[in-house]
Amino acid sequence: MTWLLLIVLLGVSLVCAFQGTRLVTWTAALAGAFLLFALGGLAPVVTLVIVGILLAAVLVPLNIARIRQQLVSEPFLKQYRKMLPTLSDTEKAAMEAGTVGWEGELFSGKPDWKALLKRPYLTLTDEEQAFVDGPTEELCGMLRQWEISHELADMPPEVWEFCKKNKFFGMIIPKEYGGLGFSALGHRAVLQKISSISAVAGSNVAVPNSLGPAELLLHYGTEEQKNHYLPRLAVGKEIPCFALTGPTAGSDATSIPDHGVICKGQYRGEEVLGMRLNFDKRYITLAPVATVIGLAVKLYDPDGLLGGERELGISLALVPRDTEGVEVGTRHFPLNVPFQNGPVRGKDVFLPLDALIGGADMIGKGWRMLVECLSVGRAITLPSSSTGGAKMGSLATGAYARIRKQFNLPIGRFEGVEEALSRIAGKTYQISALSRMTTTAVDLGEKPAVPSAIAKYHATEMAREIITDVMDIHGGKGIVLGPRNYLGRAWQGAPIWITVEGANILTRSLMIFGQGAIRCHPFVLKEIAASRIEDPKTSLREFDKLLFGHIGYSIRNAVRSLVLGFSRGRLTRVPVPHDRRLSGFYRKLTRYSAALAFTSDVAMLTLGGKLKHKERISARLGDALSQLYICSAMLARYEAQDRPSKDQPILAWAFHDAIFKIQTALAGVADNFPNRLMRVLLHLVVFPLGRRERQPGDRLSHKVAQLMLSPSTTRDRLTDGIYVSPEHPVGFMEAALPEVIAAEPLERRMLKAQQSGTLDALTWEEQLAQAVERSVISETEAETLKQVRAKVLEIIAVDEFESEALRLGAPGSTEVQTSEAA
Ligand SMILES: Cc1cc2nc3c(=O)[nH]c(=O)nc-3n(C[C@H](O)[C@H](O)[C@H](O)COP(=O)(O)OP(=O)(O)OC[C@H]3O[C@@H](n4cnc5c(N)ncnc54)[C@H](O)[C@@H]3O)c2cc1C
Repeated sequence: MTWLLLIVLLGVSLVCAFQGTRLVTWTAALAGAFLLFALGGLAPVVTLVIVGILLAAVLVPLNIARIRQQLVSEPFLKQYRKMLPTLSDTEKAAMEAGTVGWEGELFSGKPDWKALLKRPYLTLTDEEQAFVDGPTEELCGMLRQWEISHELADMPPEVWEFCKKNKFFGMIIPKEYGGLGFSALGHRAVLQKISSISAVAGSNVAVPNSLGPAELLLHYGTEEQKNHYLPRLAVGKEIPCFALTGPTAGSDATSIPDHGVICKGQYRGEEVLGMRLNFDKRYITLAPVATVIGLAVKLYDPDGLLGGERELGISLALVPRDTEGVEVGTRHFPLNVPFQNGPVRGKDVFLPLDALIGGADMIGKGWRMLVECLSVGRAITLPSSSTGGAKMGSLATGAYARIRKQFNLPIGRFEGVEEALSRIAGKTYQISALSRMTTTAVDLGEKPAVPSAIAKYHATEMAREIITDVMDIHGGKGIVLGPRNYLGRAWQGAPIWITVEGANILTRSLMIFGQGAIRCHPFVLKEIAASRIEDPKTSLREFDKLLFGHIGYSIRNAVRSLVLGFSRGRLTRVPVPHDRRLSGFYRKLTRYSAALAFTSDVAMLTLGGKLKHKERISARLGDALSQLYICSAMLARYEAQDRPSKDQPILAWAFHDAIFKIQTALAGVADNFPNRLMRVLLHLVVFPLGRRERQPGDRLSHKVAQLMLSPSTTRDRLTDGIYVSPEHPVGFMEAALPEVIAAEPLERRMLKAQQSGTLDALTWEEQLAQAVERSVISETEAETLKQVRAKVLEIIAVDEFESEALRLGAPGSTEVQTSEAA
């Protein structure tokens, strides 16, 4: 009976912890169970006395605020204040920027899946759809990759004009200022389509619509600035760029040495109060063609002309290109993807204070302005263009792997190629869902600081992995450059997207979890605030409430992680109980959400401020959060599309891949945790039955690969929204695919006849004639085979050049030999 009593008390505690009940309820439940045994005489008296004393010793002080505060909260608060990392103003700005959306649920350990599925699945407005189908399609038709990347190293003038005239540079500018006023989803759809065929055009269009003068003016500009600049930016009368990076300040952007000194000077014939700017910026996209430069500098007021401090902080100015002292126009050459990019320098450039975005009132607020706006552009630009590239890679590789034959079989039928094909499809599904969900968050009014970092990092990383597989499957066809090559430049350019908008190693190591843990955690930010309240009594009272809430939350997550680890996610509510497969997916996610929440708490509690420097731990926790987010995005998309059963293999591949990565990430934290005791605890709580997740299996990988090889609604859904036209090599191949597939039985008949000796001519053409003569195929079938073969030869053809023509700058270097069909 003694054991039974202990088991009942433990069981009650586990149920309360699992449900996350309040301390009072938990206490009442334990007291109730104890009284049942005591009053019913169900246990020996000695046992009852000992257990009763122990229960009272723990529960009474915990439930009386004063005692609890003195015994636990006060000493802990003292220690906590010492453990808190010191944050610079810039770090504080980053921590406080943005809103918390679905990622907060994932971090809670108990995500509300119904809330995820209730999130609206937005679609384009009629006007946006018409723009995507009209001017965007037309623009894509004007883009010749080889001309842009090799012959001109730029978009042709008529393409620039077309973009300006059709307001491609003013997608985010509201209609009242003459822009297109598109939603984030509309903006995404345009970038996705353009980037599917030209990274150069994609970048040139993306930058004016991302973080830069237009976005900053919309949020912080004075009315005068908005009325002057926005209508001009909308129609491309002004081309903007934004200059932050310099030779000594890359990732550590707040260390810019570029400066401005407040002084009086002559401006348009009058003496005015202004600033003298000196700056040296590099890598600035659109700088060579920009007419107005958004500039980040540190301002100083050594003579006290503004009556305040000497160091005023980072401030943002708009510098017209033709201002005296500005040097701009030369170009960098980013990895053979020659979008406009170059340095901007300025020597003693004098401008009045109203050249500052928002005027003199915004002096020193530049970093906050940037961080507040960063999440929106970062959520859209690179994730959308990566999605466009990934979808194009999927479509092209699926078709190519069916059309290209070796050893008498389409290469896509070989297991080795299937493996790479399934990776391409699964990751395209992941990127696409991730980008859509993050963009939708923007349209729902969120400023998704953490999801935008997740989307930027994972979309660009996966795009790089996809293009590597795509290149491998295409073999020499991807390697030989020329007008027929639709891959080489995308492969070359992949590292660019890794580096820009927050280089990826830094984004993974510092930003995703660093920001996520503090922004999304239900207690941490509030605890920090409570610990900083000046009045000691209020501080202790508030901190005590939060601390015990936090302890309850940690215990709940530990118990949930352990129990769900044992039950493999059972005992949780799922939003689709009738679907066995999908229910399993939701259960796994709930389990790992609890595991992540618990592991994060252990990391924050035991490492405190040191966690900031433990980048490997932080990066792995960020990986787990990211993959949970990606899985949520995929499930939301699958539900919104009415669970198309034919897509299920791709969803399953992508899901198991992500879950395996979550396991790898959490196992990496547990294996490498600096404290040995915590290592043991983490292994026990997070993996009570060991590491049981497996990478997608061979059968699943086979199914996914086969879906890529022929036209279907699944393939259409996977690759929707990109540019497919017979004028473009991929569109040409796509149009030929059904014909190639239809001709396969004829080819098999020919092959059989060859093997049986019925056909013994040496060339293909002679064999074809023999096949008709010997009734292997009819004349019409022979004609079909001829036409298909001509198309296939064109598809697998590569370009050739005279040696002279390849010398850079050689006369005629733009001339290439192409066949008539090209
Ligand atoms: C083609 C191109 C276009 C660009 N466009 C613009 C633009 O329009 N405007 C603009 O202002 N800037 C622009 N940039 C600059 C871009 O944002 C920077 O390149 C980027 O911030 C990284 O700086 P860096 O190249 O000097 O690398 P570094 O800062 O030297 O970083 C090198 C490596 O160290 C890693 N690293 C650095 N610090 C840490 C850390 N604490 N923890 C972990 N890893 C770390 C980085 O992740 C990176 O992998 C552009 C860059 C390129 C290449």
